[in-house]
Parts: sequence; structure tokens; C-alpha cells
Amino acid sequence: MPLTEFNLIERYFSRHGDSRDDVVLGIGDDAALVRVPEGMELVLAIDTLVAGVHFPVNTDATSIGHKALAVNLSDLAAMGAEPAWATLALTLPAADAQWLDDFSRGLFALADRHEVQLIGGDTTHGPLTITVQAHGFVPAGQALRRAGAQPGDLIYVTGTLGDAGLALLALQEEVKLPLKDRAFVVERLNRPEPRVALGQALRGIAHSTIDISDGLAADLTHILDASRIGATIQVERLPLSPVLQEYFHMIGGWIVPLASGDDYELCITVPPDQQAALESVCAQLDCRCTWIGSINKRLGLHCLMDDGAEIGAPSGYQHFTSD
Ligand code: ADP
Ligand code: MG
Repeated sequence: MPLTEFNLIERYFSRHGDSRDDVVLGIGDDAALVRVPEGMELVLAIDTLVAGVHFPVNTDATSIGHKALAVNLSDLAAMGAEPAWATLALTLPAADAQWLDDFSRGLFALADRHEVQLIGGDTTHGPLTITVQAHGFVPAGQALRRAGAQPGDLIYVTGTLGDAGLALLALQEEVKLPLKDRAFVVERLNRPEPRVALGQALRGIAHSTIDISDGLAADLTHILDASRIGATIQVERLPLSPVLQEYFHMIGGWIVPLASGDDYELCITVPPDQQAALESVCAQLDCRCTWIGSINKRLGLHCLMDDGAEIGAPSGYQHFTSD
């Protein structure tokens, strides 16, 4: 039987799993009904992935399903929010059963790990485009914002930077990597792990956070602009995976960890008296966290090498720019 819009939704999206008790009405009506717990604010994030723009066209469907939700959970994490629900707008060139099976498996595997319920969406015909909106909660007044950084704050980043950027170079055949290294970086590009637990643990500790989707330099600059403040980072402190270190000189050195996108790590600023608290929650959550610089009053982002030389801060990826 060919897949129609309605049996496609039924088969791949509405059948799924445990329902949360804060969902009054999920998929199947004209809209979903949910309850926001007393004392909480609702946090909403939405992100679109367009084939060929946000992921290479031959990316496997399971990875696309994972990433479409992961990028949104990363935004919720950066707000200090606990994820709860998601909606999915799916534009498909064809109703391909195998593709849908793989895509929904990737999406629900991540959703289940974070107890996120898919509560609705829309399904249309056209060039492959996936929009997910994620919804979460934060205790009223406690969301982590870009605008909270203060002079003297220490700047930290989680995980390692630049692996996804190296993966793109490898997929574009600009660098040739052995299979094992290529698999590692492609996994980092396709299956980012949003820092959901850490984001929530940072409430009351961090002054500001942002998730790194467009490259550290660009995203830290968003914190600086929102906080009307400047920063100095020690470029040689940026955390690099062993694979990135190995190909470092082939790919133009620090530019990839500084400016390539798709890391989905958190950039965090904390006042010095919260440094120990930050390092302790990161240790408890087994999350690598590296001090890379500090916030100061001199406006702009200043990227220093260990010998004191300043390198120009590169800008991140932007849509609608001509170069
Ligand atoms: P309407 O025509 O009223 O907009 P639809 O026919 O688009 O409703 O959708 C029927 C139901 O299926 C709705 O509850 C909607 O939220 C849900 N839905 C549609 N597409 C998806 C999808 N890709 N994922 C999850 N739920 C979906
Ligand atoms: Mg509709």
C-alpha cells in the first residue's frame, strides 16, 4: 500500500512510545494540548535543517533524525532548560518507507534518552527540509541568557572544538583521512550530543551561556554583543581532539576550532567565585570543560597566541552573505 500523508504520520510518528503525563493531547487532533508546571517558564527553540545547506545530501536518515532534534536540545541546554516536548515539520521529496524508518529511529532514540515526547507536526511534499521545535521548562527567572556576562568572568567551553569542521573538509574531499579518523569526525558532525544535563546544572552558576553552532568566535561574539562587553581568549588553550591535533597543520591551524560550525558544545562564562562549582558539576557529569579566557571591558573579541600575538577573530557561517 502506498504511503499517504496520514498513514505516514500514523506509522512513523504517532505510534511512538510512552506519553508524558503533562501531555493532555498529543498527535492526532488539530493541535496539541500540554501543561506547563507551576512556577516554570516555557522555553521554545526552533531550527530548520535544509538538505545540502545544513547537512550533505547523502547523509544517512538516522543521523538527520538525530541531528534535527539535537540542535534544538542544544539551544534548550544553552538556556538552562529541561526539555519536554517537540514538534516536527517535515518536507519530503518522496514518501520513502526506508528513509522514514531510519529518520524516525534516529529522532526517537535521542528523544527517548531525554524523555522528550513528539506532540505534533506537519508533513508536506517538496525539497528535503526538516524543522523541529523543542519545548522545555526553566524555573521562572532562572534561564541562562547571552546577556549576563560580566567583566572578570572566566570563559569555558565543553568538549572539543573543530571536529565537525574537519568532517566537512573530509566530506568535501579537501583533506583525506584514514577511515577510522574520518568515522570519528563524521560522527561528531552527524550525531552531536546536546549538553542537556550540564545546561540545567549551570543555573545559578553561569552568568551567560550559548551553544556553539556557528563557530566559537561567532557565538562568543553574540555573548559579547548581548552583554556589551569584550573578551580575550588564549587560542592555544582551545580543546582539540587527538584526531584534530593530528591534522591540525593540514587544515590551517586554529581557524577550524575557532570558526567552523556544528560543534554543539556550550560556551559558558562564570564569575571567579563559581569556578570551583562549575568544575565540580562538569566532573560529576563527566563533561570535559576547558578554561579558555576571560571577559573584560575592552570591547570585541581578542584572540591571543601564547607569545602575546593577536590573531584576527574569524567570523562564523552566515546565511544570505554573498561571499
Ligand atoms: P491539520 O491539517 O489540521 O494541520 P495535519 O493533517 O497536518 O493537521 O496533521 C494531523 C495530525 O498529525 C496533527 O496532530 C499534527 O500535529 C500531526 N502531524 C502531522 N505531521 C506530523 C509529523 N511529521 N510529525 C508529528 N506529527 C505530525
Ligand atoms: Mg497540516
